[in-house]
Amino acid sequence: MLEPLLASIREAGFDPQDVTHILATHVHLDHAGAAGSLVRRLPKAQVYVHSKGAPHLIDTSKVVASAARIYGDRMQPLWGEIDSTPAGRVRTLEGGDILKVAGRRLEVHYTPGHALHHVIYFDAHSGELFAGDVAGVRLPGVDYVRPPTPPPDIDLEAWSDSIRLVRSLRPDVLYIGHYGAIKDIGQHFGRLREKLLDWGEFVLQAMRKGKSEAVIIALLIEHTQPELQRVARDPHELQRYEIASNYAMTVQGYMRYWSKKHPERL
Ligand SMILES: [Zn+2]
Repeated sequence: MLEPLLASIREAGFDPQDVTHILATHVHLDHAGAAGSLVRRLPKAQVYVHSKGAPHLIDTSKVVASAARIYGDRMQPLWGEIDSTPAGRVRTLEGGDILKVAGRRLEVHYTPGHALHHVIYFDAHSGELFAGDVAGVRLPGVDYVRPPTPPPDIDLEAWSDSIRLVRSLRPDVLYIGHYGAIKDIGQHFGRLREKLLDWGEFVLQAMRKGKSEAVIIALLIEHTQPELQRVARDPHELQRYEIASNYAMTVQGYMRYWSKKHPERL
């Protein structure tokens, strides 16, 4: 997907050769998998990422192994080659940092929950907030928010705190990774939080009954697919939700969370 990205930069009126900042919200492959390939084509670009994520851009082997557990033999067709980013091209961030980029002043806020190293970028002047995955998955024009809960480090308490933090910034618009601009922010986060906790509880109860991963996946689909079918306008939309964050990955993320963070509840 490098060529379409470079073409879009040109279409927006910029020369890719002049790009100086690549701001990663987190290192998951669908967000920063191309960082290593990009810096090889954008000679002036540095990749900005939280300090806990930086090692995984400099050496992508753990992220690739983790994704391979989810995607299996679809790894190559989905992602292609995933290049590491040379350490000299990575700048590490912490919450509270300020970046001056392209005439903007961007606040960096640490927002773990979806990933341990997740950050958002907020332009307080324009009210625009680049939210990555902390604000969930939602197709433009569809009134449905899906919590993306992949392994290995979703954390429901941290995620709730991050939602609270993002809302306290009072943004006017959220740009989410999957996909586009969100303006009904209060309602959007309300729905995300509700579903995040509802699915968590659903998976926990199934685990307590001794159900296997495969069975829990089937149960979650049965539990939740009808409501998505009601709001989606065509099969393609259903598929796009599944591509952004599929049920198998969702269940794996929650199962790992409960086993690792709350074994006392199992
Ligand atoms: Zn992600």
